[in-house]
Amino acid sequence: MSYNVDDKGYYGEFGGAYIPEMLYPNIDELRQNYLKITSEPSFQEEFHQLLKDYVGRPSPLYFAKRLSEKYNTKIYLKREDLNHTGAHKVNNTIGQILLAKRLGKTRIIAETGAGQHGVATATVCALMGIECVVYMGEIDIARQAPNVARMKMLGAKVVPALSGSRTLKDATNEAMRDWINNPLDTHYIVGSVVGPHPFPDMVARFQSVVSEEIKQQLLEKEGTENPHYLIACVGGGSNAAGTYYHYLDNEDVKIIAVEAAGKGVDSGESAATSILGKEGIIHGSKTLLMQTKDGQITEPYSISAGLDYPGVGPMHANLYKTGRAEFIAITDDEAMTAGLELSQLEGIIPAIETSHAFAIFEHKTFKPDDIVVVNLSGRGDKDLQNYIDYFKL
Ligand SMILES: *Cc1c(COP(=O)(O)O)cnc(C)c1O
Repeated sequence: MSYNVDDKGYYGEFGGAYIPEMLYPNIDELRQNYLKITSEPSFQEEFHQLLKDYVGRPSPLYFAKRLSEKYNTKIYLKREDLNHTGAHKVNNTIGQILLAKRLGKTRIIAETGAGQHGVATATVCALMGIECVVYMGEIDIARQAPNVARMKMLGAKVVPALSGSRTLKDATNEAMRDWINNPLDTHYIVGSVVGPHPFPDMVARFQSVVSEEIKQQLLEKEGTENPHYLIACVGGGSNAAGTYYHYLDNEDVKIIAVEAAGKGVDSGESAATSILGKEGIIHGSKTLLMQTKDGQITEPYSISAGLDYPGVGPMHANLYKTGRAEFIAITDDEAMTAGLELSQLEGIIPAIETSHAFAIFEHKTFKPDDIVVVNLSGRGDKDLQNYIDYFKL
């Protein structure tokens, strides 16, 4: 049994492409071409050259000595926070813009929640000299002002989404609408392993460089490619998908997915999608989705703008359903405390999304000889004001 995608775009019962007919030509063009184009040697060469010289890969695998001592286990951090633009998202946007160029597209659109994907998209559009429009919920625009300024500085147009909860899912709706209206010249750079097939698989492949590097780096440091545990936070699921990708079918390696519980899983203010979700369709994909009894999408909540999405990628829905991954929900308070602890034990201020992954060590005990790899998905500069307000710094 494989936990990866099948040729119809399904992970078990999840995934597929549930799209309005008007989006069919765009999705079909991608589906027909993405594997062919991304496997061409010239594509791979340009992709890896940019990851190396522009993003700064490989990102280090760092042994966190003080954190390891505190929790009496061996903790390694995969330093995606050191990437250009400060998170893992740029791995995907570089891949997609190279693909878009080869498909002859001259305009890029994107949606963003925390603003990290918007910045990563605006960055690669500037790099390639391509027009860029980013949709962002009005609420997120207010709570992520530094990233909005970055996008504008990079030459992107930021369009506020004014409907619904005015956060990520509404921005995604607006971007889909734009794409339907501009099918020929526009590519929609989806920012996570969500959306209709082939997006989840395509994004997972671009992010899989993370686990490719972990294998090599762990072999050098520990004499084995396989850690005992892999841990990542899950919003849509792209940094987690990249972390797990080359280990999915190796069940010796345990997988832990950390979701945002917000104010508590049962508080009504949460984004613990897998635990609270029921099967449903969101943004073109069948997955686990937070919804009411009659199928209305529930507004998610998390202190971190990057995790408050009511769905989760179909790969993760399947990892949850099959039990391949253990899912743990972490509250706002637990995440903030873990973020402060990482800052003061290791001198690394993580993004609040990432802080959720670190709260695992207060929830679960690992053995002294366990090798535990945590994906440090992003840095906390963008969240400084939130940390300041929370801790009254
Ligand atoms: C966007 C973001 C996430 C959540 O998105 P995924 O697709 O689940 O990875 C997590 N961490 C950081 C730093 C982010 O910017």
